[in-house]
Amino acid sequence: MSVTDPYVVALAPGVHAFVQPDGGWCLNNAGFLGDARESLLVDTAATERRARLLRDAVLARGLPLPRTVVSTHHHGDHTYGNGVFLPEARIVGHENCRSEQLAAGHQLHLLWPRTDFGNVDIRPPSITYRERLTLYVGDIEVRVIHPGTAHTTGDSIVHLPEQGVVFTGDLVFHGGTPFLPMGSLAGSLRALALLRSLDAPRVVPGHGRVTDPSAYDVTERYLRWVRELAAEGYAKGATPLETARAAELGEFGAWRESERLVANLHRAYAELAGLPEGSPLDAVTVFGDMAAMNGGVPVACHA
Ligand SMILES: [Zn+2]
Repeated sequence: MSVTDPYVVALAPGVHAFVQPDGGWCLNNAGFLGDARESLLVDTAATERRARLLRDAVLARGLPLPRTVVSTHHHGDHTYGNGVFLPEARIVGHENCRSEQLAAGHQLHLLWPRTDFGNVDIRPPSITYRERLTLYVGDIEVRVIHPGTAHTTGDSIVHLPEQGVVFTGDLVFHGGTPFLPMGSLAGSLRALALLRSLDAPRVVPGHGRVTDPSAYDVTERYLRWVRELAAEGYAKGATPLETARAAELGEFGAWRESERLVANLHRAYAELAGLPEGSPLDAVTVFGDMAAMNGGVPVACHA
């Protein structure tokens, strides 16, 4: 047993979360639901080994192999394991999730060349949608909703209205720092308002323990704080790194990956400069600045 071994949480009859502690870099959550006849998966995992553990967890709960995998966004920690679920499953996601996943390719291999990802077959959504899509798995209604550009340009929220469960993808990092460089700060605030309006008491974040809607409040406080910091720094002509280094983290200091503050400031600065939401930022600069925030140590994949 390792402290990063996944565990399953029963959320409602036939509905489960697959949680990978401690929710740090590459340790995402997934979910699965269904009955003895069919099942659906929300996201996979960063490595082939972890995707196979997820596959085993589905079968251990008496569900058949998933016919559908919904990808909440293109990031490799949520999609690298998609190939493990083919040929049985079709991959479903927002149209930008497909294009971003194809553009990113084996991006995690470039970021973390020493991680053993296993055999990773890049499998983007083969069924795409633009605004909303409703799927039925047995009696379970599964609403897939695009909140606009938020964590990325191709996010999906997966909402089960009857069960009062929502899978937020990386719109929420419970106990971890939000990560906006591939999305939008303003859009993330709008996405939180949308999540709140769904009124689902059980919240499965993209990373971290299963939680409740209080996670929206603290995430929103953080985003508003980043927006204020950015406005001050931008007006003074300070770089995102200078602004991040001078910041007092306060209640957010206890979160994992506090170095993401500088990445989030890069996004906030881009919005202050009038760049469109989701416009590409230079990944080398963003990850370099996060390493600088870590005292020169690059961020590490924990999968
Ligand atoms: Zn992500």
